[in-house]
Amino acid sequence: MPLLYFILLANSLSLAYTHYGVAPNYLTVYVSAFLSVACITRALIWYSFRRKTFTLKQARHQINMTILSSMLMGVGFSAWCLSLYGYGDIALQTHVIYYMSITVIGIIICLIHLPAAAWSTSLTVGLPFMLFFTLSGQPVFVAIAINFALVVAVLVLITLSYYRAFSSVINAKQTLEDQHLHTQRLNDQNELLANQDGLTKLANRRSFANHLNNKLQNSLDAHSFIVGLIDLDGFKPVNDIHGHAAGDRVLAEVSHRLQTLLDDDCMLARIGGDEFALVIDHSASHTEIQHLGQRITEQLQIPFVMRTGLVQISGSCGFAIFPDAGRSADELMDRADFALYQAKSGARGTSIIFSPEHERLIRQKSRIELALTQSVKKHEMYLHYQPIVNGQTGQILGFEALARWHHGELGTVPPSEFIVVAEKTGLICAITLNLFEIAIQDLRSWPPAMYLSFNLSVHDVINKNTLQTLRQILDRCGVPPQRVQFEITETTMMSDLDLCSATTRNLQEQGFKVALDDFGSGYSSLSYLHKLAFDTLKIDRGFVQNLQHDSRSQGVVKTILALCSSFDVDCVVEGVETQKQKDLLLQLGCRNMQGYFFHRPSEIAEFNLSDH
Ligand code: C2E
Ligand code: CA
Ligand code: CA
Repeated sequence: MPLLYFILLANSLSLAYTHYGVAPNYLTVYVSAFLSVACITRALIWYSFRRKTFTLKQARHQINMTILSSMLMGVGFSAWCLSLYGYGDIALQTHVIYYMSITVIGIIICLIHLPAAAWSTSLTVGLPFMLFFTLSGQPVFVAIAINFALVVAVLVLITLSYYRAFSSVINAKQTLEDQHLHTQRLNDQNELLANQDGLTKLANRRSFANHLNNKLQNSLDAHSFIVGLIDLDGFKPVNDIHGHAAGDRVLAEVSHRLQTLLDDDCMLARIGGDEFALVIDHSASHTEIQHLGQRITEQLQIPFVMRTGLVQISGSCGFAIFPDAGRSADELMDRADFALYQAKSGARGTSIIFSPEHERLIRQKSRIELALTQSVKKHEMYLHYQPIVNGQTGQILGFEALARWHHGELGTVPPSEFIVVAEKTGLICAITLNLFEIAIQDLRSWPPAMYLSFNLSVHDVINKNTLQTLRQILDRCGVPPQRVQFEITETTMMSDLDLCSATTRNLQEQGFKVALDDFGSGYSSLSYLHKLAFDTLKIDRGFVQNLQHDSRSQGVVKTILALCSSFDVDCVVEGVETQKQKDLLLQLGCRNMQGYFFHRPSEIAEFNLSDH
């Protein structure tokens, strides 16, 4: 465009120059100066556009302005030079006609990208030119006018075809850009899906791991931060009882509640079914962390309102502080997980910060792990038995087998410690089978009315091979399954309600008895009991401990007893330690009991079974 104005300006000035003194000054000086200023202004405006990006609307406006100004300029310059025509001799008149034709051609070429402007110039300049010189009567000028008309017509055609090619290039470029944008959007979406949890829209495990690793790479030791893990307690039964849609809604609500508790510099992620993780990007005192943990657990304890009723869960938290608890992502996650595990195994809905004491426990645990592997190989586990009695008469009805382990260096390790390790390392199945073999051998010498009650862990229940081998041991020893009861804890059952209830049903069909152990210590939702197949319910000793002072515990025991009789299943109360407890339980209607008051667990030889 500025080039166009340069041509126009140069040509016009030369025309003014040749007519200076011949034509009146107002034409050669003033009008030409006015037109020149207009030219320069437009040229400068265009020059200022060279780095500007226009929106479509602005571009359209500028194009319209250009068409308008090309028309105005066309009219202005044509009128000016045609008025000069009247003043000169033939040479000057030829200059006018030369000026007009060559300038229009130059302008049309310059406007090749803007055919509308090119055509409007052709019309506003070309048409008066044609008419003027055709009517001039000069045969040479008439010939030039016709010649000019033909050239302009050809040029208009050329602009047209050039413009088509030009606009198709622009369109192709636009399509390419659109495609690029589309691909970019798809990529962004993919990236989002790969890093986001679809349900809660929080970061997922992968993106959490990336965040933590980046943080560790960029973190100087001086800059402390905190890794936290949150695990929901009692979430699984929500899915089982209220359905998966309700479970999803609870998770979304949990994520919402957690987000409102956290500062902006915290990263919250959902890293598993009911597991959340967070990174707190600043140092905080133990008290502050405890306080946050408390607020989190309190929030999670507020019931969730579902269409199917109120849902009550709780959550536990474990925190690990960088760099005290570890320097790598794995270490920090393991330590936070350990703290979480500690929190979960204590009272529900608590939070714990990883401490040096935990470090000691981890070491102890790995020592137990090592020792346990050797002891299992050497069949060093043995059994103690605790009678299950008729509370009224004291008569022994059967024995619960309890695992015992004495290790040369570690001393006596209680089952509450080593069973967990055995479950984690996969040794539990071997232990179960070894102990079951011993128990069945013992059972063969017991009076025929007495039964064996044997504890199974969750790993045994979900392992078909273990269950099959248990049956084979029984058959090999010639003991009828009716004399064996398997104790399965309520928490085990809830870990996979469908699978576990199918297993227990299958065990019952084979003739075994099934006891629901530690009832009341777990989720205690009475609404799922009817889904389970069992013959005996063992009330957790937690209820007995509070019995004398807590009328609510009495009420619960009474309710459970009523439930058992309506389900037509037996009931055993565990952990009876005093005469008072026994009497109270008898009053409440309990019949079968177990506890230190009657017998402590001990070797089978301690019980004089020949009397029975
Ligand atoms: P559990 O099945 O609930 O076993 C009863 C536990 O309560 C036993 O602890 C027993 O010694 C204890 N106990 C019995 N009467 C009383 C009482 O009056 N007061 C108190 N305070 N405690 C009493 P133990 O032997 O330490 O076993 C702990 C847990 O370890 C068991 O709880 C059971 O869950 C698990 N366990 C034990 N042996 C085995 C086993 O062979 N296999 C599996 N999978 N788990 C086992
Ligand atoms: Ca038990
Ligand atoms: Ca129990």
